This record gives sequence, structure tokens and C-alpha cells, in this order.
Amino acid sequence: MKKSIRIFALLAIGICFAFALPKKGEPKKINVLIDAGHGGKDYGAVHNAFREKEITNQIAAKIMAVNSDKEIVLHFTREEDAFVDLNERVEAMNTIKPDLVLSLHVNYTNKEESRSGMEFFVCKDAKEASKSIAYANKLSDKFENKGYKVAELKYANFYTLKKSEVPTVVMELGYLSNEIDRAYLTNNKTQDEIAGIVADFLKEIK
Ligand SMILES: [Zn+2]
Repeated sequence: MKKSIRIFALLAIGICFAFALPKKGEPKKINVLIDAGHGGKDYGAVHNAFREKEITNQIAAKIMAVNSDKEIVLHFTREEDAFVDLNERVEAMNTIKPDLVLSLHVNYTNKEESRSGMEFFVCKDAKEASKSIAYANKLSDKFENKGYKVAELKYANFYTLKKSEVPTVVMELGYLSNEIDRAYLTNNKTQDEIAGIVADFLKEIK
């Protein structure tokens, strides 16, 4: 009886290793969690008929649609118009443990309509701060090279950034309160372009 248990245990260990060890020549997979901000009862920023929760969901869906690389495995904190609280988002981050979390948001200010451009945020005190900074810089450079206005990297203690144990970047894609930004944030073609730039970046960090 004891012997059979030992054999079973050895077999189980062997099977675990067979799954855990990548086969020779197997391409490296990268897991990315796309976190579309807001959803459901939480609209995020609103300007007339435009809602942040819909823009972030549209761009998340486009990233999925444009990703043709089988080695890039995408995960989502939500795939529909559902309310997902911050704790659930953090739980997804720290359970899936992806190589990168990209949180999609849209900015808004009622003080200065002229305020515009993309902003990237990371948390300096988070577990994977240095990787987050490197990814944020690389991704923001890609947008800048495509002609988007991008601010210097910003540091913040947002709840999801602080609590995440994996590299995490919050992208504020532009200001819904600004006419020029609003035009590209809500346009089908420029949303496609944004999703394409993200997908190209993911290929490069693979
Ligand atoms: Zn937001």
C-alpha cells in the first residue's frame, strides 16, 4: 500500500514537471491582463453621450481582435459592461499573475478644456515597480512616435497600482474633456490604431 502511494506521488511529480517545463524550442508565452476601467453602474468620465466605461471596453475588445499572436495570451478583468470593484481587479492581477497588467482609462477635467494628451502611471512602491516603469516608458514612446501627445511618466499610489504584485501600468488614453482628444478617443479608426499600437508593443516585449 505504502509503495503504491510513493509511486503515485512520484508519477504526480513527474506529470507536474512535464507541464511546468517548456519544451525545447517552444516559443515563450506572455500573459497580459487587460483591465478596462469602470463598467456597469460606474460610468467613469462622461461627456454628452460618451462614457469612459464604453471607450475602455471598446479599446480592450479591439486589442483582443487585433492580437493575432498566439504567444500573447490575453486576459480581461471584464469583457462586458459589468461593474467590477477594485478589489476584484486586484485579485485578478494577483491570481492570474500575468507578465503585465494594462489598465485602460480616459481622463477628464472640468477646469481646463485645453488640457490634453496621454498619461501613463506606475506606483514607485509596488513590488514590480522597475518593470512597470520600463514597460510604461516603452509603451509611451510607441505612442509618441505615432504622433500622440504623451506626458512624462507619472507616479501614483492608485489602489490597483499599489496592490498589484505584477508589473502594472495605468494608461489614461486622453482627455474626454478636450475636443481634440475626444475626437480620437471616440473614433472607430483611431481606437483601432490605439489597439494596434498596444498589440505591437506586446509583441516586442514577448
Ligand atoms: Zn477611469
